[in-house]
Amino acid sequence: MTVNAASEGKFLIRRDWIYPADLTGRFRTWRKRIGYGLIALFALTPWIRIGGLPAVQIDLPGRRLLLLGSIFTPHDSWALALMGLIVAICMFFFAAVFGRVWCGWACPQTVWMDWLYRPIERLIEGKAHSRKKMDSKPPSEWPASWWARKVAKYVAFALATAFIVGVFLTWFIGGPRLLHGDMGAAGWGVAGFIFALGFLNAVWFREQLCTYACPYARFQGALMSDKSLIVAYDEQRGEPRKLGKAREGGDCVSCMRCVQVCPAGIDIRDGDQLSCIACASCVDACDTVMIKIGKPRGLIRYTTDRDATGPTPISVKTLGSRSLMYAAILALLSGALVYGAVTRSPITVAVARAVSTEIFRELPNGEVANQLTVHISNRANSAHEFVVRSGTEGVTVTVPGLPWAVDWGAEERLMAFVSAPAERFVDGRLAAMIVVEREDGTEVSAHFDMLGPSHPSPHTTETTP
Ligand code: SF4
Ligand code: SF4
Repeated sequence: MTVNAASEGKFLIRRDWIYPADLTGRFRTWRKRIGYGLIALFALTPWIRIGGLPAVQIDLPGRRLLLLGSIFTPHDSWALALMGLIVAICMFFFAAVFGRVWCGWACPQTVWMDWLYRPIERLIEGKAHSRKKMDSKPPSEWPASWWARKVAKYVAFALATAFIVGVFLTWFIGGPRLLHGDMGAAGWGVAGFIFALGFLNAVWFREQLCTYACPYARFQGALMSDKSLIVAYDEQRGEPRKLGKAREGGDCVSCMRCVQVCPAGIDIRDGDQLSCIACASCVDACDTVMIKIGKPRGLIRYTTDRDATGPTPISVKTLGSRSLMYAAILALLSGALVYGAVTRSPITVAVARAVSTEIFRELPNGEVANQLTVHISNRANSAHEFVVRSGTEGVTVTVPGLPWAVDWGAEERLMAFVSAPAERFVDGRLAAMIVVEREDGTEVSAHFDMLGPSHPSPHTTETTP
């Protein structure tokens, strides 16, 4: 894309369209398999059920994350923090070891463009060279058949985008709610906004997203080293390039196939570039040429900066201390997450002082009463009933409406009235315990301080067994 700040006194953005040529090759085959595998994973995961729950659902209104049969609520902030750290370290690790392989093989932008939008475009408008030829004419000279193809392509793109947005939403609201259109006005608004962005990206923005808008593309440069995997041209072997019918020179025959197939529109022979997404299309294209002219494959190949003219590396030896450190941290964090998820309690209880004008009340019978709220979070994958009682002798806990039903993955707030004889208070405080019991006998307790005369300072305690 060329952006001219001003032209004839006006802002002008000129779009240089890229028409990647069709190709076949071993990397292309593997990328296609992985791409369609990822699309299937993306589309089907929210429909898979584990323990009666969706395998993955980011339930924002319900403030819970369903993940592989476990329910994470705001009480599991440690787990959410660990997940965030794991994702961040994964990005560091993959960039340090595999460079931009994520961009070329697994990034949603590449996967949707290469395996959904471009195949649709190829099907409706034909091969790259004929598309380029027709598009180079002014629209006033387009025949009706080309207009019809354009309209058909945009309709197909709109349907494909609607499919992607629908699949994306199932990760948040689940498949059944989406099928019933049960999203509320806000949900439809978000869906419309994502659809507009996705459609604009498909019809116009495309590869520019990787070069101009993606922050990960930018900061990968800082994470990569001379030991990271890149796609590179073997200059030592390829130069000087043969031109025309020249017989002398390096292995590059200047056929330009590597440039024609590049979805970023660059010439890898000019060196490593920010726009290169390491998709290996140029590798496949050049390998085909090398085979045809009887030369070994690999004039363009996956390699590292340090070893661009030698054999392709990536072994434990060549990983480098930074990558090994990332791998060790990843293993530690993942282990901690799994251990924490497996051993955590299915119930969380928190006690907080109720918002009230009085901190305590002195009752006519000589007792002191406090008003509390008890938060019960049910992290099991089925609804349960709970009762609440005192765990401290002489302290009475009264909760209206027991037993209290709490849905799976939900949190309920109960009002509790706690009273104890005034003489039990020392310096205006009395340490007490509340016990929450599930109908199957599972118990969780929470400690709190009752407050008596002349002692303020509200206090909140949270306990899991
Ligand atoms: S230079 Fe090669 S690896 Fe990089 S984007 Fe272009 S085709 Fe893909
Ligand atoms: S495809 Fe290979 S031989 Fe052809 S121009 Fe590119 S590097 Fe040279």
